Amino acid sequence: MDNCIFCKIAKGIINSKKYYEDDDFFIIADISPKAKKHYLMIPKVHYKLIADQTQNDNLVLAKMIAKIPVLQHELGLDGGYRIIINQGENGGQEVPHLHVHVLGGEKLN
Ligand code: AMP
Ligand code: ZN
Repeated sequence: MDNCIFCKIAKGIINSKKYYEDDDFFIIADISPKAKKHYLMIPKVHYKLIADQTQNDNLVLAKMIAKIPVLQHELGLDGGYRIIINQGENGGQEVPHLHVHVLGGEKLN
């Protein structure tokens, strides 16, 4: 998607430090952090909603979630974290490219 900020970051058109990257997804820090540590896990393929996933995208989402405990220490998330996926207007989704918020680094309310 030409006008999508996360697609632009995925393609390197917009520069952003990637804390992790593989063929399927990458991790960046949220530009407006809501906790001491606030990451976004972003699939490289553009789609907005979980409901829009192909079967393969579905596997990527599972892979992303499974990667969090593997990277937990490296990302400063020891002690626990919160996973959030905003979906659609009522869910408060601002960027229409599926992403997983991972928050931690402190005790969250
Ligand atoms: P959501 O409301 O779930 O769509 O969340 C979108 C998130 O993307 C917000 O928390 C923004 O702060 C974050 N965001 C928007 N643009 C960027 C960017 N260029 N780099 C990092 N995070 C961004
Ligand atoms: Zn996109």
